[in-house]
Amino acid sequence: MPQIRPLVAGNWKMNGLRAALSEVEALASTHPSPACDVLLCPPATLIGAMVDAAQGSPIQVGGQDCHAAQSGAHTGDIAAEMIADAGGTAVIVGHSERRADHAEDDAMVKAKAEAALRAGLLAVVCVGETEADRDAGRTLDVVLGQLAGSLPDGASAENTVIAYEPVWAIGTGRVPQISDIAQVHDALRGALTDRLSDGASVRLLYGGSVKPSNAAEIFAVENVNGGLVGGASLKAADFGGIIAVT
Ligand code: PEP
Repeated sequence: MPQIRPLVAGNWKMNGLRAALSEVEALASTHPSPACDVLLCPPATLIGAMVDAAQGSPIQVGGQDCHAAQSGAHTGDIAAEMIADAGGTAVIVGHSERRADHAEDDAMVKAKAEAALRAGLLAVVCVGETEADRDAGRTLDVVLGQLAGSLPDGASAENTVIAYEPVWAIGTGRVPQISDIAQVHDALRGALTDRLSDGASVRLLYGGSVKPSNAAEIFAVENVNGGLVGGASLKAADFGGIIAVT
């Protein structure tokens, strides 16, 4: 099994004004050399300022979404190239809130992930089942279907990360059984190994109500290579507590 450096990524969602950048400075000073890669994805308005705030630290900055096109008449959207131009190095695509609120399907997510690769960004591709899917015993079908449809052409362990985020666990304080996380991550690993020559090395993040108190147990699962963290990424103390257990 390859040695994989974990990634802990934070998704600030639609939270954060410039004053919140003090959290990034606090995180940088309390965790100068973490044992994992660290990524923070603030709202687009803060990407450039966060890049400046994180200067000289290992904290990478990314976007929460991008358009598939490089430029054009797409009011309100941002291109992957714009995230890169602002100093970002990654972008989340296919988050369940985007899939639900903006009717993004797998084909759109794949196109966005390919835009990320075109711009030289790390694509963090999200997949995850709803509670209804889980109750119907369809978790693996849904998650593997999303992976098959959303994985960008040209994906590799260097440019793509997969985040498994059960929709019902996001922002709810509910977390699947550890054995359920393990089952999904094993299935994702198998699919990636079948599809990509370096699929064994692609990082697989778990996301959904990760906090300092549960991160160690989750990150200890085989084929969990870090986390995608929402609410607990907003404060340096919480996010730092998660980074510290990798
Ligand atoms: C997320 O938004 O990707 C997420 C996992 O949120 P939370 O950690 O708040 O559940």
